[in-house]
Amino acid sequence: MPNAPLKNVLIDRIKRNGPIDLATYMQEALGHPKHGYYTTRNSIGSAGDFTTAPEISQLFGELIGLWIVDCWQQMGSPNQINLIEPGPGRGTLMCDALRVINRLSAMDPNIHLVETSPRLIAIQQEKLDATWHSSIDTVPRGPFILVANEFFDALPIHQYQMSPDGWTQAMIGISSPGDELQRMLQPCDQPTLTAPPHNFAQAPLGAIVESCPDAETFTRTIVERLGGDSGAALFIDYGYAKPAYGDSLQALFDGDYADPYQHPGLADLTSHVNFFALATIAHAAGLETYGPIEQGAFLNQLGLAMRADALKKNASAPQARAVDLAAQRLTAPGQMGTLFKVLALSSTTSLHPAGFAT
Ligand code: SAH
Repeated sequence: MPNAPLKNVLIDRIKRNGPIDLATYMQEALGHPKHGYYTTRNSIGSAGDFTTAPEISQLFGELIGLWIVDCWQQMGSPNQINLIEPGPGRGTLMCDALRVINRLSAMDPNIHLVETSPRLIAIQQEKLDATWHSSIDTVPRGPFILVANEFFDALPIHQYQMSPDGWTQAMIGISSPGDELQRMLQPCDQPTLTAPPHNFAQAPLGAIVESCPDAETFTRTIVERLGGDSGAALFIDYGYAKPAYGDSLQALFDGDYADPYQHPGLADLTSHVNFFALATIAHAAGLETYGPIEQGAFLNQLGLAMRADALKKNASAPQARAVDLAAQRLTAPGQMGTLFKVLALSSTTSLHPAGFAT
């Protein structure tokens, strides 16, 4: 078992100050300035703990590039356009998208990347000419197109659970005996949720609900900007389209699912995104939303099969098989095709993002 320096840091802290809530735990496990997972690990891609759609195949970023060009044209092809990506990982999606953008259009975007991991910023800087931000708040205003792939699932969540005595909040404390980190429940008021599940006031015993304040704050910022600046935003992630009960926190450690409290700083921690809550925020501000629809349907509508055929034309037989496999992985039900959802927001009813025809 590799030693987990962050585990000792957290155990010391909890012994001194008492249990921490789940969101604080996730924030530390992923973003601790010295020992956080994204701070220290080069974790994304086939050699890492987890892979993502742009790392599976260039097809993904290229189709997103097409989506961006179409939005930009519908916006009237503005000369000044900010192309924003929060959580760009290894920069692969943006590189693949830019290749298509440059080939197909005269669009000359200012690239703004929102990233907190110094390690990933260094990798992005090798590939991209961009401006880096640690928060969306410093990205300049103006017409924009934003793409976020697997960004929201990395943001800290709170969990609440119905006990015989009412609502409780998930906290991380220390087991006794054993001195291990463990999930525990602390009484709390009924949680205030943007999009509570059906019959929330009569939540069954044991029911768990989650909230992700950072995802909601980020969405509010985008929604507020779309109220003033023309543009569109695309959110792609695994998640659910309707409010639901359930514990969606998961840890990936060395490519395998693991106990989320065993390896803080060494395991990737994610949760499913509540797309309904994000869409609710946009609707409340009077914005148009598109989806959420399943990733497979979205990519197929953008022409995945055609692009795959074009790639296979000049490919060897093994390369062509790899293209087919990747296309299947991105779109097949049971793989990424149905678990992943896509939601788009646009500033005006005359901007209809591609890929959402019903
Ligand atoms: N979009 C990429 C990477 C997904 S992993 C891909 O699809 O491959 C999540 C990304 O979000 C990483 O780049 C991580 O460093 C970044 N991230 C996590 N929390 C963040 C935060 N609060 N602000 C900005 N970026 C964050």
